[in-house]
Amino acid sequence: RMETRASALPLKNADELIDSVETFIFDCDGVIWKGDKLIDGVPQTLDMLRSRGKRLVFVTNNSTKSRKQYGKKFETLGLNVSEEEIFASSFAAAAYLKSINFPKEKKVYVIGEDGILKELELAGFQYLGGPEDGGKKIELKPGFLMEHDKNVGAVVVGFDRYFNYYKVQYGTLCVRENPGCLFIATNRDAVTHLTDAQEWAGGGSMVGAIAGSTQREPLVVGKPSTFMMDYLASKFGILKSQICMVGDRLDTDILFGQNGGCKTLLVLSGVTSLSMLQSPSNSILPDFYTNKISDFLSLKAT
Ligand code: PLP
Ligand code: CA
Repeated sequence: RMETRASALPLKNADELIDSVETFIFDCDGVIWKGDKLIDGVPQTLDMLRSRGKRLVFVTNNSTKSRKQYGKKFETLGLNVSEEEIFASSFAAAAYLKSINFPKEKKVYVIGEDGILKELELAGFQYLGGPEDGGKKIELKPGFLMEHDKNVGAVVVGFDRYFNYYKVQYGTLCVRENPGCLFIATNRDAVTHLTDAQEWAGGGSMVGAIAGSTQREPLVVGKPSTFMMDYLASKFGILKSQICMVGDRLDTDILFGQNGGCKTLLVLSGVTSLSMLQSPSNSILPDFYTNKISDFLSLKAT
């Protein structure tokens, strides 16, 4: 939205925020968990919100798992969250293809891990590629030409720890040579926190390779693009002004909420520190910020 704020406010009265919306969208990494570790107080906070009748939705840009695999992760962490409440960018890619009636006789070339393959399969789409594709050095003899499937109508790119040059060339051929071939990115996160020891190249690095070779910009289905927000609003019949987006990252989560016209809450339990939020170089200001979502349990009006 165009409204500009001078600064983000520390959350003082959680009840007021909770009463002002009917749905909370929670980002996952940095809000619910950090890697495989549950963040303090999350189960109690989610229980409290449910007991107050709030709809809870979980949106992650991490495309490596399907919503079913995330369902298991929530369960393992002792959280009472169903698959249907989870919207990963892997699911978003399949949902997007469904939304445009992508032809079932066409194929999807996947640069990414298992989550995307599982979601495409569940949605009934034919695909090729995936983690195991390519992997050997391409030997170039005179006249050598890489064949590609002319029936590929979409290339979906997400985070891929098996990324290689074969995949770049294959995806590039599909996008450049198949008429009308779509170029879809699950997300463009620049870096991600695979371990707490350093920042790791994120999904944006794989997407950038294909953008670089094709000179095309992808259609992004994950945060901060509006696709998932529109999808959720229409699926649940909710007004975006009745949503609070809660996340730890400014350029994905908070922007996602703002692009959707939602209320936004930044939590400092993930990758953004208070000094990053308040830095003069940051222009993305949430409505509120607080340390962690369990602050909802203690921040009462005085
Ligand atoms: N992409 C990858 C590969 C990740 O590992 C993560 C976080 O773990 C993310 C994206 C960001 O996930 P989220 O949107 O839940 O913060
Ligand atoms: Ca996050």
